[in-house]
Amino acid sequence: MNEKVRCLIIGSGPAGYTAAIYASRANLAPVLYEGMQPGGQLTTTTEVENFPGYPTGTTGTELMEDLKKQAERFGADIRFGMATATDLSAAPYKVTIDGDKVIEAETIIISTGATAKYLGIPDEQKYAGSGVSACATCDGFFYRKMTVAVVGGGDTACEEAIYLSGLASKVYLIVRKDFLRASKIMQDRTLNNPKIEVLFEHETLGLTGEGVVQGANLIKRKGQADEEQVHIDIDGFFLAIGHKPNSDIFKPWIETDEVGYIKTIAGTPRTNVAGVFASGDVSDPHYRQAITAAGTGCQAAIEAERYLSEKGL
Ligand code: NDP
Repeated sequence: MNEKVRCLIIGSGPAGYTAAIYASRANLAPVLYEGMQPGGQLTTTTEVENFPGYPTGTTGTELMEDLKKQAERFGADIRFGMATATDLSAAPYKVTIDGDKVIEAETIIISTGATAKYLGIPDEQKYAGSGVSACATCDGFFYRKMTVAVVGGGDTACEEAIYLSGLASKVYLIVRKDFLRASKIMQDRTLNNPKIEVLFEHETLGLTGEGVVQGANLIKRKGQADEEQVHIDIDGFFLAIGHKPNSDIFKPWIETDEVGYIKTIAGTPRTNVAGVFASGDVSDPHYRQAITAAGTGCQAAIEAERYLSEKGL
């Protein structure tokens, strides 16, 4: 028989855990499924210096552990498992976990976050686990005293490059434009780091190496009169080019924008399906911060509580 819950939270980043804190304190007996990456994207970041309440900073992993503990303290039922299919045609909504177990939920809070993007070149797959990574914190350790490249020009790329510069002997930052999109402070830290060489106006054509990454073929100023092919010797190739919202399993029912971000009614976490709310990066193309995700997780739980009480459920 299907398990019935009043509030199902899908995802375990700052949005999901904050929703769980609020929902459990409101006696909604929330069940939270953590997904493939318990703790979400923040567990792959290093220092978190901008989450209010941590004057000397913390780490992504510690922050997520703290949020999880706080949710469990109020009775949130946090489970390992992945939502694999949904039927949101009528309440109670059905969500399949790990391909078999079906949960029937009166309300759902979607906090599934976003996943790192890849360039889409075949060599990324060829060298997966053999020099290609989208997570410097997870894999940087393997490249101590080696040479690595990071692709991207945003805050993530700068953060990863800086992190890797603490381990590797040299870090190339491959940036397709002639400027960094990152915040000023991250730009300054990157450009002033003696171990980081920024390759502006470079794109990656492919990777080279016998079994493991040993180099990258780049193109400089592609399409310009002075276009030039460049080869760099590297041992690791890190992607940091943004993220894709994890909304695919909801798409038959939930409206998204063209990128896949779940559309919510302005200023609220409400989706086009009553009782189904979205919070965090899966519905936020603009801010994508841990604190904004936590804020919308709180909103979603409050909305779920009001929805249930209006329906007398
Ligand atoms: P962004 O979307 O900000 O940046 C993506 C970068 O990757 C851009 O430089 C983009 O280039 C480049 N890029 C995208 N696709 C390709 C491609 N196919 N080939 C080459 N380069 C590509 O993503 P981030 O993950 O860096 O940041 C997301 C959000 O999270 C931002 O709002 C950021 O501020 C925030 N953030 C904040 C942090 C903090 O405060 N500590 C840490 C990390 C992220 P182009 O500029 O040409 O589009």
